[in-house]
Amino acid sequence: MKKPELLLPAGSLDRLKTAFLYGADAVYAGMPGVSLRNKTSFSLEEMKQGIEYAHSLNKKVYLTINLFTHNSDLPRLSEFISHLKELNPDGVIVADPGVFAYIKEHVPGLPLHISTQANVCSSLTVKYWRSQGASLCVLGREVPLSEIKEIREQCPDIKLETFIHGALCVSYSGRCLLSNFMTGRSANKGNCAHACRWKYKTYIEEENRPGELMQIDEDEHGTYIMNSRDLCWLGRLNEILPIGIDSFKIEGRNKSEYYAAITARTYRQAIDDWFEDPNAWDAQKYLNEIMTLQSRGYTVGFLDGNAGPESQNYDVSASSGNWRYAGLVRGEKDGKLILEVKHKITTGLTLEFLSPFQFDPIRFTVQDFYDERTDSLIDTMSSGHLGQSILIPVSGKYRRLLPPLTVARIQIKKT
Ligand code: SF4
Repeated sequence: MKKPELLLPAGSLDRLKTAFLYGADAVYAGMPGVSLRNKTSFSLEEMKQGIEYAHSLNKKVYLTINLFTHNSDLPRLSEFISHLKELNPDGVIVADPGVFAYIKEHVPGLPLHISTQANVCSSLTVKYWRSQGASLCVLGREVPLSEIKEIREQCPDIKLETFIHGALCVSYSGRCLLSNFMTGRSANKGNCAHACRWKYKTYIEEENRPGELMQIDEDEHGTYIMNSRDLCWLGRLNEILPIGIDSFKIEGRNKSEYYAAITARTYRQAIDDWFEDPNAWDAQKYLNEIMTLQSRGYTVGFLDGNAGPESQNYDVSASSGNWRYAGLVRGEKDGKLILEVKHKITTGLTLEFLSPFQFDPIRFTVQDFYDERTDSLIDTMSSGHLGQSILIPVSGKYRRLLPPLTVARIQIKKT
């Protein structure tokens, strides 16, 4: 059986490289300027560099063009598509049949993937897209495990992809106008404000008592009636891997390098270990690691059929997880590690570095460290300015285990 591709989001060149460093086989990314993805920070030149970098590692980049088009989008769309040959991605992810047909005509031979936004939930729909020339379908997050198995058996001649981790919508795979209505930010153009997760007060009004509003089901936190937990199939990979899905997708293109590193390394290790020895595979080791990430609590979503109330977090919309992104290794200087600071660092603090070469973290208690700009000894560095870095003396043995883009974390006390 072939290993599935591990597919990570990449919202910037650093995040693309971090995902590959920690074991992703491929990334998906959107484009700015000609932007259909508002929150990405890629320039056209950076995207070209990213794709060339991926190809130098024998890895892949898929570009996301999964908007549903309005006529006003068409000039930008054709401009964007005119760059595709030059960019040379390994495929594009589309949802709108018009965009599908346009790319097929203007960039023949480019693999076309059908986005989750297209709501592919049955073998009938997969076969339709296959007949149109699609090379891969991303199944909707609403498809349960039993149907994923059936679709795999009934559609052996097309690649299938499933989401295995990341945020969930309460709408049908992201086809939602809530964010547009409340903020003017379009979920269908990659710029959702996650309005469904906000704190809502809910009232009912009896017909004969106009204006007498009765509040329902609210505690001191408010009512989070649409606040979905995050998807996590990690603990069930031993049931999903034998099905033979081609690609496992992780959501979160707006998340940090830290999120890319932890999700990539955890799922990479879990997949590799299962292929190494499925009988010895134990989910707990991987779950312990993924629980260090901030999340809204986890759910398996629709894996066992309809997602029930347990998939919603009615209590609170704040993230759980008591580790934080502390820094990003940028290289070394005079035998010291250059660490870009992402969280306040003080003398005596213990940092955990997540080496891409081993699963167990490397712990350091920071004693002496220096301001990278002035080389002066300091005892505190805040994360205030972008690119602000410190120098930490580290032995050569450890520096080799901590290449550029290695992430570091700190444990915070829960309040
Ligand atoms: S507002 Fe919520 S339901 Fe709507 S697209 Fe955004 S995340 Fe999904």
